[in-house]
Amino acid sequence: MKMENQDWTSEKLAALDANDPLGIFRDRFLIPEGTIYMNGNSLGPLSTDARNRLHTVIDREWGQELIKGWNTAGWYDITRRVGDKLAKIVGADEGEIVLCDSTSVNLFKAVAAALHIQNSKDPKRTKIISEAGNFPTDLYILDGVKNFVRGDVQVNICDRSEIFNAINDETAVVVLTHVHYVTGEIFPMEELTEHAHKNGALIVWDLSHSVGAVETDLNLAQADFAVGCGYKHLNGGPGAPAFIYAAKRHHKEMMQPLSGWFSHKAPFGFTDEFEPTDGVSRMLCGTTPILSASALETAVDLFLEAEPQNLKEKRQTLSAIFCDLMMPLCSKHGLTFISPTKPSERGAHVSYQFDQGYELMQAMIDRGVFGDFRAPDFIRIGFSPLFQSYCDMQKAVDIIANILENRIYEQPKYQVKNAVT
Ligand SMILES: *Cc1c(COP(=O)(O)O)cnc(C)c1O
Repeated sequence: MKMENQDWTSEKLAALDANDPLGIFRDRFLIPEGTIYMNGNSLGPLSTDARNRLHTVIDREWGQELIKGWNTAGWYDITRRVGDKLAKIVGADEGEIVLCDSTSVNLFKAVAAALHIQNSKDPKRTKIISEAGNFPTDLYILDGVKNFVRGDVQVNICDRSEIFNAINDETAVVVLTHVHYVTGEIFPMEELTEHAHKNGALIVWDLSHSVGAVETDLNLAQADFAVGCGYKHLNGGPGAPAFIYAAKRHHKEMMQPLSGWFSHKAPFGFTDEFEPTDGVSRMLCGTTPILSASALETAVDLFLEAEPQNLKEKRQTLSAIFCDLMMPLCSKHGLTFISPTKPSERGAHVSYQFDQGYELMQAMIDRGVFGDFRAPDFIRIGFSPLFQSYCDMQKAVDIIANILENRIYEQPKYQVKNAVT
């Protein structure tokens, strides 16, 4: 479907909405009146399903079942159960994903597990490779891993264009984020994974900006480990648990440093010695936050109701419409589009550089158009086929145009910096 450079009239957009097979999902999200929410890439919105589920978990499960809830309400299995649901979204098998911890913590465990496997085979492989400008926590975690493992592990942070050639017979682990958090550029997962394997390296993919946003097939790519985020495109709620994937072929050898009781063979055997459990549950550490995990499970169930092909087409069309409509504003007001120009080459968000990006975004949010700001001077806009309409794109661009034309972002109240941008 070629959708670029079209003349997006209001009639055309209204017709797209009228024929939208995903239109039925809009009413299942509780988005405040007058808000065009274009920030599902940072925090997905609340759905009625998730709200109802939380009420049930609080009142009926926690409230009435109390401690029995672990057995009667499915709390104990939730990490595996939701993991198996997520597996359908990211192309994994059952028993390859568990829900747990935060993305940062899971990345630490995944990288440590991959290093451990490599170290027992070929101790000369000491390099971890990642991308300069990767999401900061990923780089900070790699620094943390380097500082805490024995031996001379080095972290080699390269520009995107140099990653491929940097992978060689000294590489232990490659750690990459599939969809870049600012530009939205997609790394070719299959090609890079194959290249890493040819060189004897293992690869860990961070799917934080991919899961629920772009089609991902971990098994097809033969990925070794992966981690991902529950509160972004999956709409799991603020601080929703993250997930970790480990390919079945690694389950026997893999070890991870946070060997808490949930990664034990018999958590309720209460023995002093640690004996790791089999399978992906070995990646667990301690108790999972059940309220958050329940909201996320419901959000994942809702997501799984939609046809992947419909999601893909609508996401690409929404972003094509928005970017086409923004184009004349960019040249007139000095915004620079920094994402790949083809919708198929980017994830579910795009970014623009603008010197007063922070102020512009504050003025937009004040007028109901929610995106976010990323330092030093990028504004980020997310596309969410489940709850945005085609007409929303036009409405959002009209509001942005008004702010730019009238330089509303220069008002003093938009200069005040918040802690979270
Ligand atoms: C959002 C995001 C994270 C988030 O990490 P948390 O530990 O869940 O806060 C990590 N990595 C990437 C690439 C992300 O986009």
